[in-house]
Amino acid sequence: MAKFTCTRCGKPLAVNEPVFFKLPLPAKGFTEIQANLKLTAQPYCTNCVQVKPKD
Ligand SMILES: [Zn+2]
Repeated sequence: MAKFTCTRCGKPLAVNEPVFFKLPLPAKGFTEIQANLKLTAQPYCTNCVQVKPKD
């Protein structure tokens, strides 16, 4: 199984932990997202990515 660490702080990411993946927006949709995830996606933990919760 692949081990992921946060790209910014290096924190090991636990299974089922919410994470953010940074990737280029694909032109062709979800099929391309899958390919891009393997090649270019970088994981970030929730401490490093601050997203305002939607009310
Ligand atoms: Zn982090």
